[in-house]
Amino acid sequence: MKAVTFQGEREVRVDDVPKPGIQGPDEALVRVTVSAICGSDLHIYHVRTPVNPGAVLGHEFSGVVEEVGQHVTRVKPGDRVVACFFSYCGHCFYCRRGWFSQCEHKGVFGHGEYFGNLGGGQAEYVVAPLANHTLEPIPDGVSDEQALFVGDILATGYFGAERAGIEPGDTVAVVGAGPVGLMAVMSAQLFGAAQVFAVDRVDSRLEVAQGLGATPINGAAVHPSEHIKSVTGGYGADRSIECVGLPATIEIALHSVRHGGTVSVVGVPEATEQDFPYMHVWFNDLTYTGGLCNVPPYMRPLLDLIKAGRLDPAVVVSHRMKVEEGEEAYRMFAEREATKILLTS
Ligand SMILES: [Zn+2]
Ligand SMILES: [Zn+2]
Repeated sequence: MKAVTFQGEREVRVDDVPKPGIQGPDEALVRVTVSAICGSDLHIYHVRTPVNPGAVLGHEFSGVVEEVGQHVTRVKPGDRVVACFFSYCGHCFYCRRGWFSQCEHKGVFGHGEYFGNLGGGQAEYVVAPLANHTLEPIPDGVSDEQALFVGDILATGYFGAERAGIEPGDTVAVVGAGPVGLMAVMSAQLFGAAQVFAVDRVDSRLEVAQGLGATPINGAAVHPSEHIKSVTGGYGADRSIECVGLPATIEIALHSVRHGGTVSVVGVPEATEQDFPYMHVWFNDLTYTGGLCNVPPYMRPLLDLIKAGRLDPAVVVSHRMKVEEGEEAYRMFAEREATKILLTS
């Protein structure tokens, strides 16, 4: 089958690889109908996340179940499903407490042998381990394309908005208007924000944010946190949601909120260590939160919100390409020529 594989720095390749098959009673084989390239795939592309050459990439995908092991009961062949971007056991210390993202037996799709050696979704087929947990059936009325987002970036944007503690009428600064940032804009509105600022340097992304009802702020033209303060009576936003992970954007998020505000960071950090302005956080009564999205509890409610017409994450899709065009798709996404790229077989 055709699959996008990691080769080395800034190098992916569409290879013919063996079609995977289920090996154990808890697994399911999924025929992928649509997958996406994610910002975390770029961390692999730029070798900031270690992945072995040859690994099949992709952790955002929907598809149709083709075959299941004997212990798989929540889905059956023919069901349309979306995958959580990671697998989790459901019974360890953390899973029992509902923190599935911290599962002691977690694996991540499309991240090679260092992250559980799971397959990747940027391929024609992928095996889902622990399929009773990992796969969520897609309800009628929700397309495979729309559903794909609940397995990672929509859940992440929503998680960021939820952890920001948004209350009706709040002003919210979303730092980064990439795909996760755009999901955070939509989610902030769902929580009742009166005004949402979207900060980015890429005009095409700011235009999408504006189309969603956000106030765009181009960080290349103005100092974002100073600008936000100047248009909020000198105070700043009530909450900020950071969706990039760079030290500079985390700083913008920290300085865009009023005293007593909340800073919610869901961007995957680029640096492993950075000076933390603890006096600024302490003295101004800020709450600093965020983290790796605990996806599973959000999947079903988000699918229901999409079905109800309250959310349409697919509006961020800028390009629909074939798996065979994977190399060009990665190049375009890395160069920010695309907001969100979907791949179909
Ligand atoms: Zn992702
Ligand atoms: Zn677990």
